[in-house]
Amino acid sequence: MQVQIGRIKKDIDAIGEFTATPGKGITRLTFSQEYEKARSYIVEELRKIDAKVSITVAGNLRGRLEGSDKGKPVVMLGSHIDSVYQGGRFDGVVGVVSALEAARVIVDNNIAHRYPIDVVVFPEEEGSRFGSILVGSRAWAGKLSLDELSRLKDEQGIDYLKAMKQMDITPEDENILIPEQVKAMLELHIEQSLVLESKSLKIGVVEAIAGIRQFSVTLNGVSNHAGATPMSLRFDALQGAAEIISAVEDIANQHARKSTVATVGFLKCEPGQANVIPGRVQFTLDIRDTDSGSLDETVEKITTLIANTCQNRGLTYNLEPRSDTPPVVLSEKMVHLIERIARKRKLGTLRMISGALHDSSILAELTDVGMIFIPSKRGRSHCPEEFTDIGDIELGANVLLETAIELAT
Ligand SMILES: [Zn+2]
Repeated sequence: MQVQIGRIKKDIDAIGEFTATPGKGITRLTFSQEYEKARSYIVEELRKIDAKVSITVAGNLRGRLEGSDKGKPVVMLGSHIDSVYQGGRFDGVVGVVSALEAARVIVDNNIAHRYPIDVVVFPEEEGSRFGSILVGSRAWAGKLSLDELSRLKDEQGIDYLKAMKQMDITPEDENILIPEQVKAMLELHIEQSLVLESKSLKIGVVEAIAGIRQFSVTLNGVSNHAGATPMSLRFDALQGAAEIISAVEDIANQHARKSTVATVGFLKCEPGQANVIPGRVQFTLDIRDTDSGSLDETVEKITTLIANTCQNRGLTYNLEPRSDTPPVVLSEKMVHLIERIARKRKLGTLRMISGALHDSSILAELTDVGMIFIPSKRGRSHCPEEFTDIGDIELGANVLLETAIELAT
């Protein structure tokens, strides 16, 4: 059984037109006009194959092909169509349209399946509009209440539920997912890194998704005259931050397990003037690892580092946790199944960890999850240069299709 890559290409091109920043990458925020156009396109395609389309809690989209046996748990296939600001055409979209194409092939060829198959689109995966990631999948899995959804606001102060309503997206099924109802979840995604390309491999099989601990750090010193204050009498918050940031890189580098990564991605210095000693610095910390013990260990080392540096420099500090997502180990059964199918298709595979979070991490607490990675050109993603070769998408989509058939029959 094969996907028709022409149809997948057409889907990617069509959805790629729906951006708020034409010529400057894809900006498709959840429940925006562009999002709604992309969502409607998928709904229309699902209706063409007589999938039963419905909206579930938090605006998740579901297109169902009923199975021949009544009451069987569902095989879910899908990803997301929201994007970051000025992102790329492939992140999320590839997983959604490959799931759609798998459903089309199954219908076109009258492939009998006992289990129902759902093509799903999870809203607000990226968190670009409402500042919180994996919203659709978390709400569907019962980890975000309606109350919490109403507290998620965009820059204009519009809350999640109101934004959903503005687009006329009304849930028909407010039930949360329970393990007995889901047989498996499969997601095809671009790798967003360089590993597959560097090894000339086309199929990555994700074994684990890294956990993430994020913090906001504030260092307080004393703002003072840059000329009149001798070096020995300074409490320079930025020098303290510089020392910490440099050591954060060392701590991650020195970690025995090579799965540790640590990033300071934001820094604000006050008052931010050339002739004033910085009195206050805020920065973020993002620490990831697939092993929760290593993650805790790294966090502890960095916390101690901050405390010691501040003590030595006469600074005070505040360390505020922003998020804490534990690492997720994906189903060994699914890893084997995907590898077997890829091997049958004469494709080399690589077991990988995902440093980025995906909706599949949330589903992994409910059911067996399989994730298939395909190469990202030069490892670029979340930018207009994001690119995955259409031939590679075809290979990945065929593995997804065959895995889905095996799970659903
Ligand atoms: Zn994604």
